[in-house]
Amino acid sequence: MTVPFLDLAAQQAEIVDDVLPVWRRQLASAAFIGGPEVDAFEQEYADYIGVQHVVGVSNGTDALELAYRAIGVEPGDEIIMPANTFIATAEAASRVGAVPVFVDVDDDFLLIDPDAVAAAVTPRTRAIAPVHLFGQTAPMEPIIALAERHGLVVVEDAAQSQGAVSAAGRAGALGTVAATSFYPGKNLGAAGDAGAVMTDDAGIAAIVRNLGAHGSSVKYVHDRIGVNARLDAVQATVLRAKLRRLDGWNAARRGAADRYADLLLDIPGVRLPAVRPGNEDVWHVYVVRVDDRDRVMAELGAAGIGVGIHYPTPVPFTEAYAGLGAARGAFPVAEAAAGAILSLPMFPHLTESQQGRVAAALRAALT
Ligand SMILES: *Cc1c(COP(=O)(O)O)cnc(C)c1O
Repeated sequence: MTVPFLDLAAQQAEIVDDVLPVWRRQLASAAFIGGPEVDAFEQEYADYIGVQHVVGVSNGTDALELAYRAIGVEPGDEIIMPANTFIATAEAASRVGAVPVFVDVDDDFLLIDPDAVAAAVTPRTRAIAPVHLFGQTAPMEPIIALAERHGLVVVEDAAQSQGAVSAAGRAGALGTVAATSFYPGKNLGAAGDAGAVMTDDAGIAAIVRNLGAHGSSVKYVHDRIGVNARLDAVQATVLRAKLRRLDGWNAARRGAADRYADLLLDIPGVRLPAVRPGNEDVWHVYVVRVDDRDRVMAELGAAGIGVGIHYPTPVPFTEAYAGLGAARGAFPVAEAAAGAILSLPMFPHLTESQQGRVAAALRAALT
């Protein structure tokens, strides 16, 4: 690839001298699960997000599942979520026996549409799971107001938004509880799988911690049937080193997004992504919309430009959720977007000349 979709090598090079001495100590002491690095990361991430409690866990999907369980979701309960998300938002609901209820997104930002959420509330609804998609926060004010009116719990999916800010605070500090992923390609990524649950509620945090450690808070005393979903020290070490650099890397992404806006503005047929008023976007991915997307994508690929689609199929239309029987046309915005969206290369160390090549290839494909 002339320009890769994602290049994390420069991130690892920045942190290697911070990480290796700690990893050496961990190898020598054979202290891999929990321990001081995990405790320190949880505290530092809580301070960064602005929440009382962070519980480090094994990955973002487990974080969502434990958050759903900790708020008391039971089999048959409904959780409302956007149709355009990564499947994990729904998968975690299904794993606790709940029913994902998909709603459409708005056309400007491709974020969950609060009016669609309001229309989807039933007596079985237990929670709303807004997704801070592509790096900016979902419209939380109307969703929280709706939740309060109906006695629902708001569970943020903050996997694509580490560091994102809204008028009301940081992503992860806006709902009752939030789940995030530190998959290597996220804005804050581990050297493997990792995730976290964030909340101001000490009771929810305690249940998440208990559930993720075999339902146990005291060794061999099991209060619940839990799972094994702990954060390990090896990952916490990487996350601490990267957290110190996250604001700088997110600022670099914002700089790259501004540059794309300049470079792409006059290319016919390209619709640029928009930032919701009051939001500070951390550009997890940079998603344009184009006509004839599959041809454009193929031409960019042939020109050596790495691109992606987030996501090619709205979750209700995946084979996995065929059993829900969602009707074509039920999610007009998400369905139309799925055929037009194209994610361009975006990472903190993306250079001006790389972006110039992306823009030139896109221009060539569309003119
Ligand atoms: C990445 C992601 C997840 C899941 O995280 P994993 O760590 O891969 O399990 C959940 N929701 C969204 C929106 C994501 O992008």
